[in-house]
Amino acid sequence: MAQWLDATVVSRTDWNDHLFSLRFSCADFPQFKAGQFTKVGVEQDDKILSRPYSLVSGPDDKELEIIAVPVEDGLLSPKLHKLQIDDSLKIMSPATGFLILDEVPKSRDLETCG
Ligand SMILES: Cc1cc2nc3c(=O)[nH]c(=O)nc-3n(C[C@H](O)[C@H](O)[C@H](O)COP(=O)(O)OP(=O)(O)OC[C@H]3O[C@@H](n4cnc5c(N)ncnc54)[C@H](O)[C@@H]3O)c2cc1C
Repeated sequence: MAQWLDATVVSRTDWNDHLFSLRFSCADFPQFKAGQFTKVGVEQDDKILSRPYSLVSGPDDKELEIIAVPVEDGLLSPKLHKLQIDDSLKIMSPATGFLILDEVPKSRDLETCG
């Protein structure tokens, strides 16, 4: 069942002015597959403002990680861009998405489209 979990920022990396990574702890986040995404959010006026983000941490990593751009005039990404260590955020459990290796048809060669 989809549910919001509490998470805490454990580190952030600013690759440049417009690309940053957030790494956060989230107890009880269920196993996911490389390539999946989930919703990340912050609480605002008793609601959760959220958007989907791909998980770039490995499925066996202790913490979860996203990499994002702060979209000018965006509602959420500038807020995520300001988060610091120990700040709270909300993570939707479980992760979802089918851009995963299991979905690649078994064959000797990968074929190109178009
Ligand atoms: C499945 C999925 C996975 C995603 N994974 C990531 C991810 O790993 N990292 C990430 O940064 N974003 C990712 N996104 C986009 C993310 O969910 C948000 O749309 C983005 O952060 C903007 O949210 P916002 O609330 O700041 O902007 P909003 O207030 O929602 O404004 C949206 C506006 O920003 C534009 N926009 C959205 N993304 C970008 C962008 N990258 N550059 C410029 N303009 C943009 C939209 O076209 C729209 O005009 C993903 C989206 C989907 C659907």
